Amino acid sequence: MSKKILIIGGVAGGASAAARLRRHSEEDQIIMFEKGPHVSFSNCCLPYHLSGVVEKADDLVLMSPEKFASQYRIDARTNQEVVTINRQQKTVTIKKLLSDEVYSESYDKLILSPGAKPIIPAIPGIDKVNAFSIRNVVDIDRLNSYIKGSDAKNITVIGGGFIGVEVVENLKEAGYNVTLVEAMPQIMRPFDYEMVQILHKELLDQDVNLIVADKVVKFEDNITILASGKAIPSDVVVMAIGVSPETNLALDANLKLVIKVALKLTKTTVLMTQIFTQSVMR
Ligand SMILES: Cc1cc2nc3c(=O)[nH]c(=O)nc-3n(C[C@H](O)[C@H](O)[C@H](O)COP(=O)(O)OP(=O)(O)OC[C@H]3O[C@@H](n4cnc5c(N)ncnc54)[C@H](O)[C@@H]3O)c2cc1C
Repeated sequence: MSKKILIIGGVAGGASAAARLRRHSEEDQIIMFEKGPHVSFSNCCLPYHLSGVVEKADDLVLMSPEKFASQYRIDARTNQEVVTINRQQKTVTIKKLLSDEVYSESYDKLILSPGAKPIIPAIPGIDKVNAFSIRNVVDIDRLNSYIKGSDAKNITVIGGGFIGVEVVENLKEAGYNVTLVEAMPQIMRPFDYEMVQILHKELLDQDVNLIVADKVVKFEDNITILASGKAIPSDVVVMAIGVSPETNLALDANLKLVIKVALKLTKTTVLMTQIFTQSVMR
């Protein structure tokens, strides 16, 4: 018997689940909700828009709701946020973000793939700098447009993980003065300290102002102040200190969370730690 399956989140996890479910069954009704304007975009390529390697932000978008409908008969609904789950009635409430209209859908199966959002710590004075974070096409487009549309020269990236390093690489490629601040004694923590010296040297060779073992304590007007007292001119600040899983919806519905950590090879950074938080409800 055919089932009605709802999916919350329409990027890597949600879109893959939807496509896989369609391969398993021609009959099932599959609806995928995404609160952002895009489904299935290339997160891995987001930083490469800053250097122009990916010229247009639209080129980062891999699929559209129209293609999901015509190729897979998947109903992808963008700009729609699932706001509550009622497990007893097997329904979800959805808010259309462009019109504020609220409606509900029933389900036989519900898949949560809401991902993780960038951590923005409450560092004093954060409102005194132009601070950005990167999660999706909207974010990178906003950052890129701001940088290119202003006379920004000095950009400070906070956090020397995979995303921070890729952002540094692409901003440097685009010709900016880039400072990378990392609180730990090394960038890219999954690597041994000794091996990371190769990466540190590469950044220094590329004229990146690399600062390790020093952390941001506050911001003043377009200046990043570190614990050491260093003051870094920062026309733009990119926060890349990590992500936090979007678990509110699941917790509100009293769902038990399953957290898996997977390791994966990537083009420039070799290793990426990926945290999936997907809960499947019956
Ligand atoms: C700049 C950058 C570079 C990256 N580079 C790499 C790389 O090189 N290699 C690699 O393996 N990984 C990389 N990643 C990580 C990778 O993008 C993530 O691991 C992957 O996107 C996780 O997919 P997801 O579907 O679980 O979550 P997400 O991509 O976070 O998607 C979840 C979606 O669910 C939506 N959502 C959340 N709550 C709701 C709700 N209530 N209703 C409707 N929609 C909702 C969100 O808007 C979001 O779009 C990178 C990430 C970034 C930000």
